[in-house]
Amino acid sequence: MKQVFFTPGPSQLYPTIAHHIADALREDIGSLSHRSEKFQDIFKEAVEGVRKLLAIPEEYSIVFVASGTEAMERIVENTVEKKSFHFVHGSFSERWYETAIELQKDAQMVEVDFGKGFEDIPEIPKDTELICFTQNETSSGVAINPEFIYNVKNKNPHALIAVDIVSSAPFVDLDYTKLDCVFFSVQKLFGLPAGLGVMILSPKALEKAQFLQKKGISIGTYHNFPTLVEWAKKNQTLETPNVLYLYLLGKVAADMNKKGIQHIRKDIEKNAKRVYDFFDNQPLYQPFVTSKKDRSQTVIVITLGDKTDEIKKKLQEQGLIVGGGYGPRKKEQIRIANFPSVEGEIERLLNAFAAM
Ligand SMILES: *Cc1c(COP(=O)(O)O)cnc(C)c1O
Repeated sequence: MKQVFFTPGPSQLYPTIAHHIADALREDIGSLSHRSEKFQDIFKEAVEGVRKLLAIPEEYSIVFVASGTEAMERIVENTVEKKSFHFVHGSFSERWYETAIELQKDAQMVEVDFGKGFEDIPEIPKDTELICFTQNETSSGVAINPEFIYNVKNKNPHALIAVDIVSSAPFVDLDYTKLDCVFFSVQKLFGLPAGLGVMILSPKALEKAQFLQKKGISIGTYHNFPTLVEWAKKNQTLETPNVLYLYLLGKVAADMNKKGIQHIRKDIEKNAKRVYDFFDNQPLYQPFVTSKKDRSQTVIVITLGDKTDEIKKKLQEQGLIVGGGYGPRKKEQIRIANFPSVEGEIERLLNAFAAM
Protein backbone atom coordinates (compact mmCIF):
# COMPACT_ATOMS: atom_id res chain seq x y z
CA MET A 1 0.00 0.00 0.00
CA LYS A 2 1.17 3.49 -0.80
CA GLN A 3 2.11 5.30 2.40
CA VAL A 4 1.72 9.05 2.83
CA PHE A 5 3.78 10.80 5.51
CA PHE A 6 2.04 13.70 7.23
CA THR A 7 5.01 13.84 9.60
CA PRO A 8 6.65 17.22 10.25
CA GLY A 9 10.19 16.20 9.35
CA PRO A 10 11.39 14.01 7.82
CA SER A 11 8.28 14.39 5.71
CA GLN A 12 6.69 13.06 2.57
CA LEU A 13 9.23 13.56 -0.21
CA TYR A 14 8.34 16.08 -2.89
CA PRO A 15 6.63 14.22 -5.76
CA THR A 16 9.41 14.99 -8.26
CA ILE A 17 12.27 13.79 -6.02
CA ALA A 18 12.52 10.23 -7.39
CA HIS A 19 12.77 11.58 -10.91
CA HIS A 20 15.48 14.09 -9.92
CA ILE A 21 17.49 11.44 -8.05
CA ALA A 22 17.39 9.22 -11.16
CA ASP A 23 18.64 12.16 -13.24
CA ALA A 24 21.38 12.87 -10.68
CA LEU A 25 22.66 9.29 -10.94
CA ARG A 26 22.60 9.44 -14.70
CA GLU A 27 24.54 12.71 -14.58
CA ASP A 28 27.16 11.21 -12.16
CA ILE A 29 26.46 13.93 -9.57
CA GLY A 30 27.89 11.71 -6.79
CA SER A 31 31.33 11.56 -8.39
CA LEU A 32 31.54 15.17 -9.42
CA SER A 33 34.40 17.33 -8.13
CA HIS A 34 33.21 20.17 -5.93
CA ARG A 35 35.75 22.39 -7.70
CA SER A 36 34.33 21.70 -11.15
CA GLU A 37 32.34 24.13 -13.25
CA LYS A 38 29.40 21.73 -13.25
CA PHE A 39 29.33 21.89 -9.45
CA GLN A 40 29.33 25.66 -9.54
CA ASP A 41 26.29 25.51 -11.82
CA ILE A 42 24.53 23.22 -9.34
CA PHE A 43 25.36 25.55 -6.45
CA LYS A 44 24.16 28.55 -8.41
CA GLU A 45 20.92 26.87 -9.41
CA ALA A 46 20.15 26.06 -5.75
CA VAL A 47 20.94 29.61 -4.57
CA GLU A 48 19.08 31.34 -7.37
CA GLY A 49 16.09 29.01 -7.04
CA VAL A 50 15.77 29.70 -3.31
CA ARG A 51 16.35 33.45 -3.81
CA LYS A 52 13.57 33.67 -6.36
CA LEU A 53 11.14 31.48 -4.41
CA LEU A 54 11.50 33.43 -1.16
CA ALA A 55 12.12 36.86 -2.77
CA ILE A 56 15.44 37.34 -0.98
CA PRO A 57 17.21 40.65 -1.76
CA GLU A 58 20.36 40.39 -3.92
CA GLU A 59 22.62 41.80 -1.20
CA TYR A 60 21.69 38.98 1.19
CA SER A 61 23.90 35.86 1.15
CA ILE A 62 22.51 32.35 0.90
CA VAL A 63 24.83 29.71 2.40
CA PHE A 64 24.63 26.04 3.34
CA VAL A 65 25.19 24.15 6.57
CA ALA A 66 24.36 20.62 7.71
CA SER A 67 21.04 21.20 9.47
CA GLY A 68 18.68 23.65 11.11
CA THR A 69 20.26 22.87 14.45
CA GLU A 70 23.67 23.82 13.11
CA ALA A 71 22.25 27.12 11.86
CA MET A 72 21.05 27.97 15.40
CA GLU A 73 24.57 27.49 16.73
CA ARG A 74 26.31 29.33 13.88
CA ILE A 75 24.02 32.34 14.20
CA VAL A 76 24.70 32.77 17.91
CA GLU A 77 28.44 32.17 17.45
CA ASN A 78 28.75 34.72 14.67
CA THR A 79 26.60 37.58 15.93
CA VAL A 80 26.75 37.53 19.73
CA GLU A 81 29.66 38.59 21.86
CA LYS A 82 27.69 38.76 25.09
CA LYS A 83 23.94 39.05 24.96
CA SER A 84 21.12 37.34 23.07
CA PHE A 85 17.37 37.33 23.65
CA HIS A 86 14.99 34.48 22.87
CA PHE A 87 11.24 34.14 22.40
CA VAL A 88 10.58 30.66 23.79
CA HIS A 89 7.28 28.89 23.07
CA GLY A 90 8.28 25.26 22.64
CA SER A 91 11.10 22.78 22.23
CA PHE A 92 12.87 24.27 19.20
CA SER A 93 12.95 27.82 20.54
CA GLU A 94 14.14 26.43 23.86
CA ARG A 95 16.89 24.48 22.10
CA TRP A 96 18.09 27.73 20.53
CA TYR A 97 18.14 29.46 23.91
CA GLU A 98 20.07 26.53 25.40
CA THR A 99 22.51 26.66 22.51
CA ALA A 100 23.35 30.25 23.46
CA ILE A 101 23.82 29.23 27.09
CA GLU A 102 26.11 26.37 26.04
CA LEU A 103 28.12 28.84 23.97
CA GLN A 104 28.50 30.79 27.23
CA LYS A 105 26.50 33.81 26.14
CA ASP A 106 24.38 35.86 28.49
CA ALA A 107 21.12 34.55 26.98
CA GLN A 108 17.84 35.97 28.20
CA MET A 109 14.35 34.88 27.29
CA VAL A 110 10.64 35.41 27.53
CA GLU A 111 8.57 32.26 27.73
CA VAL A 112 4.89 31.47 27.19
CA ASP A 113 2.98 28.28 27.98
CA PHE A 114 3.15 25.46 25.47
CA GLY A 115 0.45 25.96 22.84
CA LYS A 116 0.22 29.72 23.43
CA GLY A 117 1.55 32.64 21.39
CA PHE A 118 3.16 35.92 22.43
CA GLU A 119 0.76 38.77 23.22
CA ASP A 120 2.83 41.80 24.23
CA ILE A 121 6.29 42.90 23.30
CA PRO A 122 8.51 42.47 26.37
CA GLU A 123 11.22 44.89 27.47
CA ILE A 124 14.42 43.71 25.87
CA PRO A 125 17.75 44.91 27.37
CA LYS A 126 19.23 47.73 25.28
CA ASP A 127 22.58 45.98 24.88
CA THR A 128 21.02 42.86 23.32
CA GLU A 129 22.91 41.96 20.14
CA LEU A 130 20.62 39.29 18.71
CA ILE A 131 16.89 38.57 19.08
CA CYS A 132 15.79 35.03 18.12
CA PHE A 133 12.36 33.89 16.95
CA THR A 134 11.16 30.42 16.05
CA GLN A 135 8.52 31.62 13.61
CA ASN A 136 6.80 28.25 13.39
CA GLU A 137 7.21 26.20 16.59
CA THR A 138 6.95 22.65 15.25
CA SER A 139 6.59 21.16 18.73
CA SER A 140 3.42 23.09 19.70
CA GLY A 141 1.86 24.13 16.39
CA VAL A 142 2.08 27.85 17.21
CA ALA A 143 3.20 30.34 14.55
CA ILE A 144 4.36 33.92 15.13
CA ASN A 145 2.85 36.57 12.86
CA PRO A 146 5.73 38.26 10.97
CA GLU A 147 4.24 41.66 11.91
CA PHE A 148 5.00 40.85 15.56
CA ILE A 149 8.63 40.22 14.63
CA TYR A 150 8.83 43.52 12.69
CA ASN A 151 7.33 45.38 15.66
CA VAL A 152 9.97 43.92 17.96
CA LYS A 153 12.60 45.00 15.42
CA ASN A 154 11.20 48.55 15.34
CA LYS A 155 11.39 48.79 19.13
CA ASN A 156 14.93 47.36 19.15
CA PRO A 157 16.60 48.75 16.02
CA HIS A 158 20.11 48.15 17.41
CA ALA A 159 19.69 44.36 17.60
CA LEU A 160 20.07 41.82 14.81
CA ILE A 161 16.98 39.69 14.18
CA ALA A 162 17.22 35.93 13.61
CA VAL A 163 14.28 33.79 12.52
CA ASP A 164 13.89 30.01 12.33
CA ILE A 165 11.54 29.16 9.44
CA VAL A 166 12.48 25.47 9.30
CA SER A 167 8.88 24.23 9.28
CA SER A 168 7.30 27.19 7.46
CA ALA A 169 9.59 27.93 4.48
CA PRO A 170 8.63 28.60 1.71
CA PHE A 171 5.07 29.14 2.99
CA VAL A 172 5.82 32.09 5.28
CA ASP A 173 6.07 35.39 3.41
CA LEU A 174 8.79 37.51 5.02
CA ASP A 175 10.20 40.95 4.37
CA TYR A 176 13.88 40.00 4.51
CA THR A 177 15.01 43.62 4.58
CA LYS A 178 13.81 43.71 8.22
CA LEU A 179 15.70 40.53 9.18
CA ASP A 180 19.34 39.46 9.49
CA CYS A 181 19.70 35.69 9.87
CA VAL A 182 16.94 33.40 8.61
CA PHE A 183 17.27 29.64 8.21
CA PHE A 184 15.51 26.45 7.25
CA SER A 185 16.36 22.84 6.56
CA VAL A 186 15.24 20.86 3.54
CA GLN A 187 13.39 17.88 5.05
CA LYS A 188 10.23 19.79 5.91
CA LEU A 189 8.21 21.73 3.31
CA PHE A 190 10.81 21.28 0.57
CA GLY A 191 10.34 17.52 0.81
CA LEU A 192 14.00 16.49 0.44
CA PRO A 193 15.71 13.79 2.52
CA ALA A 194 17.19 15.34 5.71
CA GLY A 195 20.73 16.65 5.90
CA LEU A 196 21.05 20.17 4.53
CA GLY A 197 20.45 23.55 6.17
CA VAL A 198 20.10 26.89 4.40
CA MET A 199 21.00 30.24 6.00
CA ILE A 200 20.05 33.66 4.63
CA LEU A 201 22.34 36.40 5.95
CA SER A 202 22.06 40.18 5.80
CA PRO A 203 25.11 42.37 5.11
CA LYS A 204 24.80 43.56 8.73
CA ALA A 205 25.01 39.99 10.06
CA LEU A 206 28.17 39.41 8.04
CA GLU A 207 29.69 42.68 9.27
CA LYS A 208 28.97 41.71 12.87
CA ALA A 209 30.76 38.38 12.41
CA GLN A 210 33.76 40.15 10.86
CA PHE A 211 33.79 42.62 13.75
CA LEU A 212 33.81 39.83 16.34
CA GLN A 213 36.51 37.97 14.43
CA LYS A 214 38.74 41.07 14.32
CA LYS A 215 38.19 41.51 18.03
CA GLY A 216 39.68 38.05 18.61
CA ILE A 217 36.42 36.35 19.55
CA SER A 218 35.91 32.82 18.23
CA ILE A 219 33.18 32.64 15.59
CA GLY A 220 33.94 29.03 14.63
CA THR A 221 36.04 27.85 11.72
CA TYR A 222 34.93 26.49 8.33
CA HIS A 223 31.26 27.40 8.80
CA ASN A 224 31.71 30.91 10.16
CA PHE A 225 29.83 33.62 8.22
CA PRO A 226 32.84 35.24 6.49
CA THR A 227 34.16 31.89 5.24
CA LEU A 228 30.73 30.65 4.13
CA VAL A 229 30.04 33.88 2.24
CA GLU A 230 33.49 34.09 0.70
CA TRP A 231 33.15 30.59 -0.79
CA ALA A 232 29.51 31.13 -1.80
CA LYS A 233 30.64 34.09 -3.92
CA LYS A 234 32.61 31.55 -5.98
CA ASN A 235 29.58 29.23 -6.05
CA GLN A 236 31.55 26.78 -3.93
CA THR A 237 31.96 25.53 -0.39
CA LEU A 238 35.17 25.15 1.60
CA GLU A 239 34.41 21.54 2.49
CA THR A 240 33.26 18.74 0.20
CA PRO A 241 29.52 19.34 0.48
CA ASN A 242 26.42 17.25 -0.03
CA VAL A 243 26.39 17.79 -3.78
CA LEU A 244 23.37 15.56 -4.33
CA TYR A 245 21.19 17.57 -1.95
CA LEU A 246 22.30 20.89 -3.43
CA TYR A 247 21.30 19.45 -6.79
CA LEU A 248 17.91 18.29 -5.46
CA LEU A 249 17.27 21.62 -3.72
CA GLY A 250 17.87 23.48 -6.99
CA LYS A 251 15.50 21.15 -8.84
CA VAL A 252 12.71 21.28 -6.24
CA ALA A 253 13.03 25.08 -5.94
CA ALA A 254 12.66 25.23 -9.74
CA ASP A 255 9.59 22.97 -9.58
CA MET A 256 8.07 25.20 -6.89
CA ASN A 257 8.90 28.36 -8.83
CA LYS A 258 7.20 26.85 -11.85
CA LYS A 259 4.11 26.09 -9.82
CA GLY A 260 4.27 29.59 -8.36
CA ILE A 261 4.79 30.54 -4.73
CA GLN A 262 1.37 32.22 -4.46
CA HIS A 263 -0.28 29.04 -5.65
CA ILE A 264 1.67 26.95 -3.10
CA ARG A 265 0.77 29.36 -0.29
CA LYS A 266 -2.93 29.41 -1.23
CA ASP A 267 -3.09 25.59 -1.30
CA ILE A 268 -1.57 25.40 2.17
CA GLU A 269 -3.97 28.02 3.56
CA LYS A 270 -6.94 26.27 2.01
CA ASN A 271 -5.93 22.89 3.44
CA ALA A 272 -5.13 24.34 6.88
CA LYS A 273 -8.60 25.86 6.99
CA ARG A 274 -10.13 22.53 6.05
CA VAL A 275 -8.25 20.67 8.80
CA TYR A 276 -8.95 23.23 11.53
CA ASP A 277 -12.62 23.54 10.50
CA PHE A 278 -12.98 19.77 10.55
CA PHE A 279 -11.59 19.39 14.07
CA ASP A 280 -13.24 22.56 15.43
CA ASN A 281 -16.58 21.16 14.34
CA GLN A 282 -16.46 17.75 15.91
CA PRO A 283 -16.75 17.08 19.60
CA LEU A 284 -14.08 14.47 20.34
CA TYR A 285 -10.72 15.73 19.15
CA GLN A 286 -9.70 19.36 19.36
CA PRO A 287 -6.94 21.45 17.83
CA PHE A 288 -4.38 21.97 20.59
CA VAL A 289 -3.84 25.67 19.80
CA THR A 290 -7.11 27.33 20.76
CA SER A 291 -6.34 30.91 19.73
CA LYS A 292 -6.94 31.12 15.98
CA LYS A 293 -4.41 33.89 15.42
CA ASP A 294 -1.63 31.71 16.87
CA ARG A 295 -2.37 28.61 14.82
CA SER A 296 0.31 27.35 12.47
CA GLN A 297 -0.86 26.76 8.91
CA THR A 298 1.86 24.19 8.23
CA VAL A 299 2.04 22.08 11.43
CA ILE A 300 -1.33 21.29 12.95
CA VAL A 301 -1.45 19.74 16.42
CA ILE A 302 -4.55 17.82 17.47
CA THR A 303 -5.20 16.52 20.99
CA LEU A 304 -6.57 12.97 20.91
CA GLY A 305 -5.96 12.06 24.55
CA ASP A 306 -5.81 8.37 25.43
CA LYS A 307 -7.10 7.44 21.96
CA THR A 308 -3.87 8.64 20.35
CA ASP A 309 -2.12 5.30 19.86
CA GLU A 310 -5.27 3.55 18.69
CA ILE A 311 -6.08 6.24 16.13
CA LYS A 312 -2.52 6.43 14.86
CA LYS A 313 -2.59 2.69 14.33
CA LYS A 314 -5.89 2.80 12.46
CA LEU A 315 -4.58 5.54 10.20
CA GLN A 316 -1.38 3.63 9.60
CA GLU A 317 -3.37 0.60 8.44
CA GLN A 318 -4.69 2.85 5.68
CA GLY A 319 -1.20 4.07 4.79
CA LEU A 320 -1.66 7.42 6.54
CA ILE A 321 1.33 8.21 8.76
CA VAL A 322 0.84 11.18 11.09
CA GLY A 323 3.43 12.61 13.46
CA GLY A 324 3.27 11.96 17.19
CA GLY A 325 3.01 14.76 19.72
CA TYR A 326 6.37 16.27 20.56
CA GLY A 327 8.35 14.88 23.49
CA PRO A 328 6.16 14.18 26.54
CA ARG A 329 2.99 14.79 24.46
CA LYS A 330 3.68 11.82 22.23
CA LYS A 331 0.89 9.78 23.81
CA GLU A 332 -1.83 12.45 23.75
CA GLN A 333 -1.38 14.44 20.53
CA ILE A 334 -0.71 14.02 16.85
CA ARG A 335 0.91 16.49 14.50
CA ILE A 336 -0.23 16.85 10.91
CA ALA A 337 2.29 18.35 8.50
CA ASN A 338 0.35 20.41 5.96
CA PHE A 339 3.24 20.55 3.51
CA PRO A 340 3.21 20.91 -0.31
CA SER A 341 4.01 17.19 -0.84
CA VAL A 342 0.76 16.06 0.81
CA GLU A 343 -1.39 18.80 -0.65
CA GLY A 344 -3.59 16.32 -2.54
CA GLU A 345 -3.90 13.84 0.35
CA ILE A 346 -5.42 15.97 3.13
CA GLU A 347 -8.92 15.04 1.97
CA ARG A 348 -8.09 11.34 2.40
CA LEU A 349 -6.80 11.94 5.92
CA LEU A 350 -9.92 13.84 6.97
CA ASN A 351 -12.15 11.19 5.40
CA ALA A 352 -10.35 8.53 7.43
CA PHE A 353 -11.03 10.56 10.60
CA ALA A 354 -14.65 11.09 9.63
CA ALA A 355 -15.12 7.33 9.20
CA MET A 356 -13.74 6.52 12.66
C1 LIG B 1 13.02 20.42 12.53
C2 LIG B 1 13.24 21.75 13.14
C3 LIG B 1 14.53 22.17 13.53
C4 LIG B 1 15.73 21.27 13.45
O1 LIG B 1 16.16 21.13 12.15
P1 LIG B 1 17.27 20.00 11.84
O2 LIG B 1 17.50 20.18 10.38
O3 LIG B 1 16.63 18.70 12.22
O4 LIG B 1 18.44 20.30 12.67
C5 LIG B 1 14.68 23.44 14.04
N1 LIG B 1 13.63 24.27 14.18
C6 LIG B 1 12.39 23.89 13.83
C7 LIG B 1 11.27 24.86 14.01
C8 LIG B 1 12.16 22.63 13.30
O5 LIG B 1 10.92 22.26 12.95
